[in-house]
Amino acid sequence: MGQASRTDPAVSLLTPGISHSLARHRAATISDVRYDLTLDVTPLDSAIGCIIVRFRRADTGDVIIDFRGRRLTAGRANGQKIPANAARSGHIRIPARLLKLGDNQLDFSFVADIAPSGASIIRSHDPTDGSDYLYTLLVPADANQLFPSFDQPDLKARVRLTLVTPVSTPPRSGSSGGRGPQGQRLLRGAAERDRRNPGPSAQASLARADVAPVSDARSERALSELPPLRSRAPTQVESAQRWSVVANGAIESADTSDGRLTTRFAETRVCASGGRASGPHAPQPWGESPGWGELRGSALDGGRAPQRPVGVSPSLARAPMESADCTPAPISTYLIAFAAGPWHRASSTDHGRTITAYVRASRAAEADLDTLLALNQRALDWMERYFGRPYPFEKFDFVLAPAFPFGGMEHPGAVFYNEDRFIFRERPTLPQRLNRFSTILHEVAHQWFGDLVTMRWFDDLWLKEGFATFMAAKALAEIEPAADAWKTFYLSNKPAAYAVDQTAGTRPLWQALDNLDQAKSNYGAIVYNKAPSVLKQLEYLVGDSAFQLGVQRFLNQHAYANATWQDLLGAIGQAGHRPLEAFGRAFMLRPGMPVVEQQLALRDNTIARLTLTQYPAKPLSGDKPWTERTEVLLFYSDRPPVRIPVELRSRVTEVTAARGKPAPDFVFANARDYGYFLLLLDSTGVHALESGALARVDDPFLRAMLWGALWDQVRNYRMQPERFVRLALGELPRETDEQVVPFVLARLGRAVSAYVLPASRDSLQPEVETTLWQAAGDKARPYGIRKAYVDAFIDLAATPRGIARLDTLFSADSVAGEPLKDPTRWDIATRLLELGAPAGEPRYAEQVKRDTTADGRRRSFIAAAGRPDAETKRTYFTRYFADATLNEDWASGSLGEFNALEHQAVTFPYVRPALDSLPFIQAHRRIFYLETWLAAFLRGQTGDSALTVVQRYLREHPNLPLDLRRKVLQHADELERTVRIRQRDDSAPYVDSVGHRSTER
Ligand SMILES: [Zn+2]
Repeated sequence: MGQASRTDPAVSLLTPGISHSLARHRAATISDVRYDLTLDVTPLDSAIGCIIVRFRRADTGDVIIDFRGRRLTAGRANGQKIPANAARSGHIRIPARLLKLGDNQLDFSFVADIAPSGASIIRSHDPTDGSDYLYTLLVPADANQLFPSFDQPDLKARVRLTLVTPVSTPPRSGSSGGRGPQGQRLLRGAAERDRRNPGPSAQASLARADVAPVSDARSERALSELPPLRSRAPTQVESAQRWSVVANGAIESADTSDGRLTTRFAETRVCASGGRASGPHAPQPWGESPGWGELRGSALDGGRAPQRPVGVSPSLARAPMESADCTPAPISTYLIAFAAGPWHRASSTDHGRTITAYVRASRAAEADLDTLLALNQRALDWMERYFGRPYPFEKFDFVLAPAFPFGGMEHPGAVFYNEDRFIFRERPTLPQRLNRFSTILHEVAHQWFGDLVTMRWFDDLWLKEGFATFMAAKALAEIEPAADAWKTFYLSNKPAAYAVDQTAGTRPLWQALDNLDQAKSNYGAIVYNKAPSVLKQLEYLVGDSAFQLGVQRFLNQHAYANATWQDLLGAIGQAGHRPLEAFGRAFMLRPGMPVVEQQLALRDNTIARLTLTQYPAKPLSGDKPWTERTEVLLFYSDRPPVRIPVELRSRVTEVTAARGKPAPDFVFANARDYGYFLLLLDSTGVHALESGALARVDDPFLRAMLWGALWDQVRNYRMQPERFVRLALGELPRETDEQVVPFVLARLGRAVSAYVLPASRDSLQPEVETTLWQAAGDKARPYGIRKAYVDAFIDLAATPRGIARLDTLFSADSVAGEPLKDPTRWDIATRLLELGAPAGEPRYAEQVKRDTTADGRRRSFIAAAGRPDAETKRTYFTRYFADATLNEDWASGSLGEFNALEHQAVTFPYVRPALDSLPFIQAHRRIFYLETWLAAFLRGQTGDSALTVVQRYLREHPNLPLDLRRKVLQHADELERTVRIRQRDDSAPYVDSVGHRSTER
């Protein structure tokens, strides 16, 4: 380091990760970036690559490019060799003397990892047919783990990809070098050796690099001169499954002449009419696709759609559009993607747009691809209309990615969805179907919001995530009026947002970010759930048309470029003729949220005074009140409700329009859920709801919010959990909404299993089990409701009678009126194992034998984490870190079973090690793993001793990075509440009126 010139700004920018300073410096000096990337992924655990990076440069200093892959084997700048010491700290520093003002070209050869986890290319092995599937996941900053790049969102690049893959997977009982068990062991052994003895660092390897320079022709030659790597078995087998590939761009050519499949993708671009082929001779590469248009019935038919045979492509290449009609569509590095493997494919053409779906061969029969294709088509149509712009890229395809660690990822032209959440192995419930369609709408909305216009830096992550979720709800509300989309929106966003935003670990929507290597911490409920909620408030504030106009202007102004939240608020504010600076300060920059308390005074059966008092949920927000617009509802069982729009501006707002109105059954100050605040009901209202008013509310959206508010009464120590349980048991039999039932059941479950003390639980448990069991068996109820009760019963059953019923259920032919299938059988076997019931092991063994599918193997791993003994916990905890072959999806799936509430005594010793491993997890696991990890370990405890461990951990690590400290505080909040709810002294009743604030921490 010392030898570098002191005046060179590059020195300070050469820190690990990608600092904001480096990103700003590059954005100011580098432009017109193009990547021409070739990757050979035929070796089992390595991608051998070369890349040509072209760019324009406006200054005279050194240029820093990012690469932290396994090995850099050669590098040239404008044809001249890059010095050996250029690679360090995850960057390659190109000396200024090798560069020019204006156009420059860099050439690199490199090797990157392919692995089940921890690599940019994920390899998912399918044990049922021996196939391997590969896919990338580069968000937020892993593109440079795969190839040298300027890995920041605001250096959008034109990308061209050439991918070399096997032509096919050999049949299962093939040669030992392939995927046979023996060959696999050999290969795994080799991979292990490689891992224990990792390749030399990029710096050292470049120093030794004696490989031939990369030629301009970026030829096969450069690749072939590298030492041979472990490769798959020969692939010329008649019965083999043929590989196919998909990436951001359209396929330009595919060649198998050298025994490998070399696919060349067109540069990312946009063509006339938004990915629609025009004219009567539109290419339909997979042949005909008759009848797709007929599928445009209810999007929610998904659960019952017939399995139709799907067409398989006769050819590999899709005819590219005439390039004269196309213009370049640069994309950010985190959005670059490909998937490869022996996929099963199906496509649909609707109004000239062809979409192709990819699913792994072994699950093709289960995947309802025709419904998924139709839903994606409808999503694209709706977004085009709302945004007033055609789909912004040349083509749109999607992949159901096996063991995908997210719900979906919005790569332009190649969206990846989570296979498990998209393939239903048993009849789905309404929430499952809505969740799947909402995910599709979310990822499709991203094509405009995220892909076409991209945040400048990951501090504005909320911009794309909040928007995608909000747009998904707007689209759902129009496409499926029966879905009651804003109720769905409330249920899936508000409780999750409030749960984090009312903690001491919360952050603002806009999250300062010094280095991209901390970007993972910016993901979570604040960007995914608070952000769309704030946008809902914003739209209510400015009105629907101003909002839409503002969004359209924003997209037009920043198309194929980057923008910030100020740009968005500026565009919407202008369209609505309303300055939004104060709104921005209150909701983008200020952390935390308000609590709003209702106070109602009655006189002579009329309202004397109704006030709304607001205060910050936590002191970190500061004292100032938030300005919000909300709708106050006065509910009457004998007359229509009164709705009063109110603007909250100061600490106390009197709802003057309510004065003199007849005394309502109850007041609800956030009707239709426009406001973003935690509402605490007045005690009169709570009493009325407990005494029958809830049953008189016809609107399921309002009922959902009332249940949410009642639960907040429990979590804010104003209602004992037993009261909530009693109310739920009393009201549930009348509840007919397929989304409200599981919402209430989840809270009932948490109250019974975590919030009430053992004595209370013993007295409540039999009644809870009976209520659930009876409702589950009630033939008069629809499937979705019965299934919710079945699921809750399986989760909660604990008495000898409940266990016997579980065992009966396991062998039943049907459940909730449908044939009993493997997912529910797994749930039962898992619960029996968790309870240590005698039937647990035999049922588990039976289920392992019965379900040998890929999902069955995953479920078997997850279920076994629920064995209650210390040895199981020790083995699993060790594997979470030491087993490099363990897929992250399996690991995170098992954390809940590992931390079953019944196992607190054996899992308690892991609370501290779980906290101690956070920095490792942050560095080595994907975005959502850390949250799942913390939530599972802390929700699995209810005791004061666990809280003490957390507090001590925080005390002993005063220098814990702030992002990690916040995550711990966010998740410790539920533990703290649980402990406090359980510690309440029955002789000192809960505070039940105003004036409780001194008890808030
Ligand atoms: Zn998203």
